[in-house]
Amino acid sequence: MAELVSQQHRVNPLTIALDQFDRTAEILHLDEDMRKVLRVPKRELTVNFPVRMDDGRLEMFSGYRVQHNVNRGPAKGGIRFAPDVDIEEVRALAMWMTWKCALVGIPYGGAKGGVACNPKQLSRTELEGLTRRFTSEIYTLIGPESDIPAPDMNTDSQIMAWIMDTYSMQRGYSVPAVVTGKPLEIGGSAGRTEATGRGVTYVVEEVLGYRGERLEGKTVAIQGFGNVGSHAAELLAAQGAKVVAISDVSGAVFNARGLDVNAALQIKNEGVLVSDLPGGERISNDELLELPVDILVPAAIHGQITGENADDIRARYIAEAANGPTTPEADEILRERGIIVIPDVLCNAGGVTVSYFEWVQGLQAFFWEIDQIRRRLKSIISRATRETIATAEKYDVDLRMGASALGISRVAEATLSRGIYP
Ligand code: NAD
Repeated sequence: MAELVSQQHRVNPLTIALDQFDRTAEILHLDEDMRKVLRVPKRELTVNFPVRMDDGRLEMFSGYRVQHNVNRGPAKGGIRFAPDVDIEEVRALAMWMTWKCALVGIPYGGAKGGVACNPKQLSRTELEGLTRRFTSEIYTLIGPESDIPAPDMNTDSQIMAWIMDTYSMQRGYSVPAVVTGKPLEIGGSAGRTEATGRGVTYVVEEVLGYRGERLEGKTVAIQGFGNVGSHAAELLAAQGAKVVAISDVSGAVFNARGLDVNAALQIKNEGVLVSDLPGGERISNDELLELPVDILVPAAIHGQITGENADDIRARYIAEAANGPTTPEADEILRERGIIVIPDVLCNAGGVTVSYFEWVQGLQAFFWEIDQIRRRLKSIISRATRETIATAEKYDVDLRMGASALGISRVAEATLSRGIYP
């Protein structure tokens, strides 16, 4: 729901994605033909469809599903419901999913979907109607072997359950592996809810370790205390970090001696806003971003660190738990200032990794224990982090370009192996 709150600092995501691709293609010396293939989505579908509203009115909605690349496996990527979703945004997000899946080495291509709507203005019945009709409209594309949606902005496990049910009704039998992020009772995976926050912790530990540092005693400020931010806070604190500030859309709370994260989580679960939490001084979200901490974790929405505030950031590391929290302009300033940005494609890849586990468990109808899931997640995320660092060193670039180079090179290799049909 967070992304509805602020659309400021909006830079066309497709422009950013293509610019990143072009720069990476240069450093990888990709040949012209490969650039032509990887620069565009393989398949895209735009649908316009009616939904009957509670008051009897008929309303039309536009939705999109884009498969950017499927050379390494079925397309994978979330579906978002938001007022300003358009085809260009979905194309960009699908492309980033391709690189992200390749980067962590899971056998997927990249996809994304979206419906332009304001879910806050829809009743539950309207939301269900919209979800089921959109699922029918994209039915020809999705499937456990072809394209597997997941939750994204404003879509949750309930919406995944409706998608799974609608798809299954068309097939005539239950097909749990058509989506991930489902409720546990219909084939969701243990550990999915915490996966992104847990992945953030593993990535941060690995980057610090590489630089001869330890998480223990490091000060951390976390913007956003939703799914990702709250789990990241809990797990970073459990590993010995000192979480000195957290925030949500209502504001931030700061305590230089460290906040009691477990108490904050408990109070948050009772519905209390972060700005009303006891045990610290109230500060604004802008002030949180500029605290002199070791690690800043933006875990809320895109476009938070921009050309306007990048000079005031005093963290040594920025762990991008959110998607796109740093604008390209800010990126350049941070790089010049020696601040290490751990890029979103790597930092928040724990989510898609456990989604992959959920899909595998669904296909096998055999479910794993939580310990097994955590062990496998750690192994995949830590390896991807080490490989990203090695790639960045090889090409003498920052971690964002390193991650991009690693992901794109793997997709290029897969494309080369498969050849051009016919
Ligand atoms: P969420 O809706 O559960 O939580 C978002 C949090 O951010 C809330 O606490 C909200 O109050 C806060 N917030 C909103 N606007 C804010 C603002 N202007 N300033 C400060 N805080 C603000 O969402 P989430 O699932 O935790 O996702 C957070 C980010 O992580 C998003 O960018 C999302 O795309 C990304 N992400 C999530 C997952 C996942 O598994 N949930 C996976 C990969 C990436």
